[in-house]
Amino acid sequence: MLPVVALVGRPNVGKSTLFNRLTRTRDALVADFPGLTRDRKYGQANYDGYQFIVIDTAGVHGDEEGIDAEMAAQSLRAIDEADVVLFMVDARDGITPADQGIAQHLRRINKKAYVVANKIDGIDANSAQADFFELGLGNVYGIAAAHGRGVEQLLQKCFNPLLEAYPELKITEQEPEPLRDEDGEIVYDAEGEIVYAEPGSPELEHDQIDYEALPLKLAIIGRPNVGKSTLTNRILGEERVVVYDMPGTTRDSVYIPMQRDDREYILIDTAGVRRRGRIDETVEKFSVIKTLQAIEDANVVLCVLDARETISDQDLNLIGFALNAGRSIVIAVNKWDGLSQDQRDEIKRELDRRLGFVDFARVHFISALHGSGVGNLFESVQEAYASATQRVGTSKLTRIMEMATEEHQPPLVSGRRVKLKYAHAGGYNPPRVIIHGNQVTKLPNSYQRYLINYFRKALGVMGTPIKVEFRESV
Ligand code: GDP
Ligand code: GDP
Repeated sequence: MLPVVALVGRPNVGKSTLFNRLTRTRDALVADFPGLTRDRKYGQANYDGYQFIVIDTAGVHGDEEGIDAEMAAQSLRAIDEADVVLFMVDARDGITPADQGIAQHLRRINKKAYVVANKIDGIDANSAQADFFELGLGNVYGIAAAHGRGVEQLLQKCFNPLLEAYPELKITEQEPEPLRDEDGEIVYDAEGEIVYAEPGSPELEHDQIDYEALPLKLAIIGRPNVGKSTLTNRILGEERVVVYDMPGTTRDSVYIPMQRDDREYILIDTAGVRRRGRIDETVEKFSVIKTLQAIEDANVVLCVLDARETISDQDLNLIGFALNAGRSIVIAVNKWDGLSQDQRDEIKRELDRRLGFVDFARVHFISALHGSGVGNLFESVQEAYASATQRVGTSKLTRIMEMATEEHQPPLVSGRRVKLKYAHAGGYNPPRVIIHGNQVTKLPNSYQRYLINYFRKALGVMGTPIKVEFRESV
């Protein structure tokens, strides 16, 4: 599970600026789900090798009727979902009544919160910071989100308690081990030097893991109302419908062990339990954080789309998130029942148009309600999992790399031909291929894409993204 950091504060204090800085390398999931999470943005962020989720809230105006007003409710929800709250204030404005309102709320609830005074560039940072001690939330951290000043120190500070709560996030240092090929032989590079596996690389443990014997964790995700609950119930069999009513926060998915064709699965049910008689059921059961955590925890993500609705940006964003997380993906277009041939053709055309970025994922047309197509999903799920966890040795990967470069020479970079030396596996789930050579990091995107596609075809990888990384030989 990834830690969750929420940014709260008045509008204009610089929350979006900080959000963009933290999530720079990845696309934000703008969660604009009707009636639910409007005005909240979710992003995947990295700090010093640690991953976390960051939520940006629309902000609390000074003029709403108390902290309970509609807009403020969004911020409260985000605070609720977060492990750590970064409470942002504008160092140039001093304390405003809205700041006081938020501070009061944060003092009342028992959640780790840090006051972050933004925009300290070009002003006397110390005296500006000192003003905000009055908020009664302890230390004040001065930053300039627009320029990055102080952000590093802030993260260091707020990550300490997070790391205590998530000990598995800690990176354990490992002695470098020589890389071995599929026959167990130590790998040497062109100059006769021993090649070392990346420290902490999962490949070192990979060979000891029997992936087929492990339960396959399958997360079922999608927008509200696409049919996730119906599908989960269909998969489990009608008799097992909603017997559990587990307490838990909105962040928790339900984990359901099940067996199918002699294989153990754990269904990660993000739709959650249906509580009868609840008017706000939809609102209750859907949570972006829940979905993101489920993606993170899964081996394979089943993305459910609704054939009766046009594919929305939210659909694509959710798929994009699974892709960024390196998860295997199977797409289920649900509610395929009762559509005319014309409608079906039109939907397929639209899918072709918009799902190009996940062209490795199998697409199934199903009816969760009637059960058609549901069984076949599992073939693709299995296939994707097998692709994601397959073992490929250094010599085979290097051979594939050589075939690729023979068919299509790497381009010249500043007048010199880029030299690819060897390739080895850098991890699984998703498969990572690491290519070493001279000037390889300067390869143009088009050639990198060519290599990724070449490896995908040669390895017969289906349903899983594949990552190719480049390392300069020294
Ligand atoms: P939000 O409404 O809280 O999300 O605030 P924004 O991120 O949209 O920022 C509001 C304004 O403050 C924008 O004009 C930003 O360019 C500006 N701003 C954000 N961070 C800084 C900073 O570190 N220094 C200065 N001087 N301006 C900033
Ligand atoms: P969730 O919010 O994603 O869990 O969606 P639900 O499973 O609650 O389904 C939302 C609505 O779509 C319900 O009224 C379902 O009966 C309906 N639904 C689900 N699957 C299908 C399907 O395959 N065909 C049709 N026609 N309706 C479906």
